[in-house]
Amino acid sequence: MTFNVSVLVSGYCESYHKLAVKAFPWKKHQFPAAFGLLKHPSGNAILFDTGYAPRVSEGMKSFPFPLYASSLPITQSRKTAKDLLEAKGISHRDVDLIILSHFHPDHIGGLKDFPDARILCSRDAWKSVKGRQGFKALFKGYLPKLIPDDFESRLEFYEDLSISNLNGFSDTLEIRRLTFEGDDLHLASLPGHVPGQIGLIENSGEKINFFIADAVWHKRAISEGLLPHPLAMLIHDDRNAYKSTITKLHKIYLNSPSVHFIPTHHPGSK
Ligand SMILES: [Zn+2]
Repeated sequence: MTFNVSVLVSGYCESYHKLAVKAFPWKKHQFPAAFGLLKHPSGNAILFDTGYAPRVSEGMKSFPFPLYASSLPITQSRKTAKDLLEAKGISHRDVDLIILSHFHPDHIGGLKDFPDARILCSRDAWKSVKGRQGFKALFKGYLPKLIPDDFESRLEFYEDLSISNLNGFSDTLEIRRLTFEGDDLHLASLPGHVPGQIGLIENSGEKINFFIADAVWHKRAISEGLLPHPLAMLIHDDRNAYKSTITKLHKIYLNSPSVHFIPTHHPGSK
């Protein structure tokens, strides 16, 4: 095993369980905002997303963002991504690369705590939010205050990586290779929820870890091909692409039992 992989949670948002999967009851549910830590033997680390931080709730106090805050109340745990890493003996300076699945606040909240890290995202995802302010940002679920000033100077794009053949994945998803400290990881295109959403595949051990961000909100969407409630479908950028991504993940689930799917909002087994 090359990478030591941890799944960490820095906060929750509250919404109805039925919105995640239509078959679930209309009950309030706390959805964790998970992110991934991949520690390489060199000592350098990668983060896949950055979870919540207090600046997310702070940033939502100014108009028009309270509209967002009231529709998805956030419970910020006391520990941010930076704190959770420090508890593991990892300094924010050890994080060499942050992969952003997309630009919703629960994925970019901790970004400003890692000023030295390179950042990788899809060009489509960045293009869809770049420069947006006020209602134009709100409609995209984007909080511009979470983006560091020097963001673009640290940015690398998924689309500039080469297409890769990864057994069990490449026949269904677009896969690109990311080399880190001489070792390979893979990124997958997971369109639908937002333009240009990407996931991360780590297969250096027996188990294959697949961070799939918001491609689904619950693992039963993958194991049983279940869709969210129609109301929740309205918020996805491209509903046909969203459904197609779920179908593809379901196929991978059926064909590759060693794949461990990690959705941001359902990282555990319950
Ligand atoms: Zn999202």
